[in-house]
Amino acid sequence: MSKGILVVVSGFSGAGKGTVMKRLLEKYDNYALSVSVTTRSPRPGEEDGREYFFRTKEEFEALIKDDALIEYAQYVENYYGTPRSYVEEQLEAGKDVILEIEIQGARKIKEKIPEALLVFVAPPSMEILKDRLTGRGTETPQVIADRLKRASQEAEGVEEYDYILINDQLEECVDKLHEIIRSEHSRMDRNLDFVRKLQLEAAVFGEKDPCKYIS
Ligand code: ADP
Ligand code: 5GP
Repeated sequence: MSKGILVVVSGFSGAGKGTVMKRLLEKYDNYALSVSVTTRSPRPGEEDGREYFFRTKEEFEALIKDDALIEYAQYVENYYGTPRSYVEEQLEAGKDVILEIEIQGARKIKEKIPEALLVFVAPPSMEILKDRLTGRGTETPQVIADRLKRASQEAEGVEEYDYILINDQLEECVDKLHEIIRSEHSRMDRNLDFVRKLQLEAAVFGEKDPCKYIS
């Protein structure tokens, strides 16, 4: 079985990454969503082990020390990191693994795993982003302001991603993401083992007496 693709999905806070991921997993098989570890507090309705593993700063630092995180970053006063073991197991099992992480983490992943696919989820406009972030109603005005400020910094790095996905109509956006990942499986550089095998088989036909291969 071929290995899965590691897909990094980033986007400004409020762009709709969580919503898109949830729908992608409901709609299509073969995806595994990595659950990150964070030091931030759970939002109402969030459960430990489902949206995040909620941990103290000390616990988070112990994970860093044990090399249990593939990457980690600080985002608006909290730490966030990707547990290594789940990602490695799922990729080996042939699943396409999705990391919903911010831009510093995306850069670290690209450095360590160049074949990772980087997708940036953008809102149709920054005005709509502000409305979505406010409308979600889960953050204080101060936290919203911090996140919008962070978006202004992150906007500089959007070109580092392989694809941009505009989250206007949710279903369209989800289907497009699925198509991008599906197409990625057919890229030549992801299929070189198969190509080599085919070339070896083809070479046999190039030998002296082709008649002996035809029954
Ligand atoms: P993120 O995970 O990027 O911070 P969320 O998934 O929490 O963003 O979405 C932010 C808000 O925008 C939520 O209230 C969500 O319901 C809403 N939202 C997400 N996608 C869309 C969309 N395509 N159209 C309208 N509203 C959306
Ligand atoms: P939130 O607090 O809104 O859930 O997430 C804040 C930001 O942290 C988002 O941009 C989200 O993508 C990012 N994030 C979540 N998990 C991780 C992670 O494991 N690593 C990194 N680098 N960023 C993460």
